[in-house]
Amino acid sequence: MNLQALSLRSFRNYGEAELKFDPGVNLVVGDNAQGKTNLLEAVSYLGCGKSFRAQRVSEMVRFGADFAEIQGTVFSQEREQTLRFLLFSGSRPRQIFRNGVRKKSAEEIAGVLPTVLFCPEDLMVLKTGAAQRRRFGDSALCQLRPNYDAALTEYNRILEQKNRILKDHFENPAVLEILPEYNTRLCQVGALLISYRARFYEGMGKAAARFHGQFSGGAEDFRLEYKTVSTVKDPFAPVNLLTQQLMEHLDRHYRAELETAQCLTGPHKDDFTVSLSGVDLKIYGSQGQTRTAAISLKLAQRELMGREWGEEPVLLLDDVLSELDPGRQDFVLNQIASGQVFITCCEPGRFTKLGKTIEIHKGSVV
Ligand code: ATP
Ligand code: MG
Repeated sequence: MNLQALSLRSFRNYGEAELKFDPGVNLVVGDNAQGKTNLLEAVSYLGCGKSFRAQRVSEMVRFGADFAEIQGTVFSQEREQTLRFLLFSGSRPRQIFRNGVRKKSAEEIAGVLPTVLFCPEDLMVLKTGAAQRRRFGDSALCQLRPNYDAALTEYNRILEQKNRILKDHFENPAVLEILPEYNTRLCQVGALLISYRARFYEGMGKAAARFHGQFSGGAEDFRLEYKTVSTVKDPFAPVNLLTQQLMEHLDRHYRAELETAQCLTGPHKDDFTVSLSGVDLKIYGSQGQTRTAAISLKLAQRELMGREWGEEPVLLLDDVLSELDPGRQDFVLNQIASGQVFITCCEPGRFTKLGKTIEIHKGSVV
């Protein structure tokens, strides 16, 4: 599977651009703030309808323009296909097309152009806060399982409404009457999230352990552990049992939630840890160990997606290679010997001989 061509109109700092790509390595070079990450954002958005950096769709529309267009020709599922997005600067909803046919949601284009993004922040994901790790896992799982994506959106919506109830109850105690209903729904959807996550992290842990073993010569025992709320003893348990255990958990925190006016616990606080030979990386890991483990996780994500869709996803490496020492660079480059890759960097140096070089200057291809 690969992206053959891309055309951009008023996307970020691009006016109009037509690009053709190599089915292997594409090196995107240019000075700072020229549009390298914007290009990767366009590719990633085209594949999943989500931006890894924009909060709102309108941010991606070029300043002063009414709409942006991203169109790509993809060789996928053994044929040539086109994907097209129209993004508007106002509140008008975006439009999605697959092979010229309008689609209702991005779910309907899942699997045509799966991508995996790897950026420098990911290298420290095992050291930073749980929120970053959750985002790391969730973004991978959402691409892998559109049903999980829908459940997560639903969960966050209920959570937001529940938070509003908790905030309002001091002034208006009557709102508490609807709280049990929200709690039940929250636990039902939350149980679904836990169930998906348990399976996902198990697969991710196994694949990452294999990469890490190759990387470290099998010297360290890589283990990934999924952490959820304390009343859940086995995250692989049936969803109705998980729901019940989440309810118990909420009951225990009922008073505290009312007093603090916040949704304190639940799957929205889930986390995962990685240990090497029993030593927790978050607490004890060296820079090098942490980075190596993060690379293994990213390669694992790519493998899982490849297995799911039957084709190697496109790998987007944003500034990540230049952050790595030569040994780690070589490991990553050897592991991605197959499939299509986009690599951005400011100083191409030793990478220029890898494949096609695309030079970006002020939102144009040189
Ligand atoms: P670096 O090497 O520093 O990472 P880069 O080439 O990756 O640089 P980008 O992040 O792609 O740079 O951003 C390039 C420029 O795009 C920035 O100067 C930013 O101001 C501009 N930009 C972002 N959004 C828009 C928009 N909606 N309209 C116009 N320009 C935008
Ligand atoms: Mg950049």
